[in-house]
Amino acid sequence: MAEEGASKAGIVPSDRTAIGIMFSNSNSSIAYTVDDKAEVIANEDGDRQIPTILSYMDGDEYYGQQAKNFLVRNPKNTVAYFREFLGKDFKSIDPTHNHASAHPEEANGTVSFTITDKEGEDAAPSTLSVQEIATRYLRRLVTSASEYIGKKVTSAVITVPTNFNEKQKAALIAAAAGAELEVLQLVPEPVAALLAYDARPEVEVSDRMVVVADLGGTRSDVAVISTRSGMYTVLATTHDYEFTGTALDKVLMDHFAKEFMKRNAGIDPRQNPKSLAKLKLEAESTKKALSIGANASFSVESLAEGIDFASTLNRLRYETIARPVFAGINRLVESVVKKAGLDILDIDEVILSGGTAHTPRIAANMQSIFPRTTAILAPSTTPTAINPSELQARGAALQASLIQEYEAEDIDQSTHAAVTTVPHIANAIGVVLVSESAETFIPIVPGETAVPARRMVHVKTPKDGGDVLVKIVEANTHIKVTKPEPKAKTNGKASKSATVEDADETEDEDDSDLSDDEEEEDEEKRERMWKIGTTLAEAALRGVKKGSTVEVTINVNADLSMTMTTREVGAKGGVRVNVPA
Ligand code: ATP
Ligand code: MG
Repeated sequence: MAEEGASKAGIVPSDRTAIGIMFSNSNSSIAYTVDDKAEVIANEDGDRQIPTILSYMDGDEYYGQQAKNFLVRNPKNTVAYFREFLGKDFKSIDPTHNHASAHPEEANGTVSFTITDKEGEDAAPSTLSVQEIATRYLRRLVTSASEYIGKKVTSAVITVPTNFNEKQKAALIAAAAGAELEVLQLVPEPVAALLAYDARPEVEVSDRMVVVADLGGTRSDVAVISTRSGMYTVLATTHDYEFTGTALDKVLMDHFAKEFMKRNAGIDPRQNPKSLAKLKLEAESTKKALSIGANASFSVESLAEGIDFASTLNRLRYETIARPVFAGINRLVESVVKKAGLDILDIDEVILSGGTAHTPRIAANMQSIFPRTTAILAPSTTPTAINPSELQARGAALQASLIQEYEAEDIDQSTHAAVTTVPHIANAIGVVLVSESAETFIPIVPGETAVPARRMVHVKTPKDGGDVLVKIVEANTHIKVTKPEPKAKTNGKASKSATVEDADETEDEDDSDLSDDEEEEDEEKRERMWKIGTTLAEAALRGVKKGSTVEVTINVNADLSMTMTTREVGAKGGVRVNVPA
């Protein structure tokens, strides 16, 4: 598949013009290396962070910020948040972020979007696969880069999350091929960020243990990477879809929506799609302004029912109401260090990458989690920090300039050694025991466990014995949120609420009701629940005795193939099943 279109072998190294691309769900960037210095390219609108959005209006195609602006007026023909769906089955995608633009659907066995991309009132809508959407978007990026450089861009290094699987990578390479773009290499996002820092000519690169926290719009990915003589080894990763930039937008949207309701007889701008879209765009820009200033304004013409709205927010108050999100990011960072088998004291450097990394509070929190000797590389803590929104594209561009001279077939070999990832399983693996009386799920190997790995569990058979079906399944966790029971307002405040008020001294008096509401939201109950996925193998144990124990052993090999052995403890024989990688 990867060889379709612009075939890899088709381009002679000397004919290449290669760039680095960060292609992500919220934004993308393009960068070019001149004289060993990578520079992020502004597109024709002057943007360096280019929203990953395509929009069609009267047969014209818009992309980037212009397309983003169409989210208010033309959401149905605007496609946003699609990178994540490349190479995925429709069943496994999370369409949450697409509610305010074109909805993903299943067509021809793939994730697709139906939009009107042609001119005229009665133009027939087109159903486009996510790969085709990606192709069209990448073509726009490549065109912008080619115009800037003054030569046709032929090739690129593109960054991908560390949990992108082979199918996703193949779909991305095919999408690029559709845009006549040769993919020289896909580089893990955190490694690209690290490369951008390590390539600074004024810095002597030393061996160290680095945490890269890539905080984007819809994902937060944190990795622990050891650098040893220029070799990067990814030791542990974590991926989160909850404590993100859009979650911060949501905090501000709720805050200002409540204020609007208070001033306007309870009209909730979140109830109307157009008002909601305006609220979101302005919330995002207020959030960005609060990364720079101590105060920011929020102002929307005709927010709902023709009523204009203007307000302000100070940073202290923002940091208070957004505390649950910031706390979640802290936990992600702490957990991945632990997962790597390390202590925070082992970490020499924390690189904050991605747009959300501009937030001063997040960098300050890192300073308090890590010892003074750990460098926190973020704009608010280190004046020489590289713009976190540009790290990945720059790293990719540097890598592109290093490898563009190689023949396509040599690239893998010549660069593989530079980036090694400890192989690990993506999802948890566990067993489901099915008998007449019950179905039980028991996790055996946690997600992201490094392989090879061997785990064994003993399980009591359900009730009466008899035939027991043992299914080995993949599983994920998701967050179940339980809203608290509405409670009567009292004067006595919990100590938590007192802190909210303390940090709030500079706010208007009449805001105190709002903090009550927000405090209740803080207390919603969040639980991790198992979500069972694909069945990997099945084994049947016949005539199991009443009350006996079943032993299940799982061996995951280095190539990710698996063996499962199931037996009844104390009985003869057992069942062994091999699962290919
Ligand atoms: P995704 O996680 O969806 O794949 P991405 O990698 O495409 O995201 P980034 O550009 O790294 O996206 O981050 C986008 C997020 O960063 C958005 O939520 C945006 O509002 C936020 N952001 C951008 N600039 C700032 C800033 N100066 N201060 C705070 N947040 C910012
Ligand atoms: Mg990102």
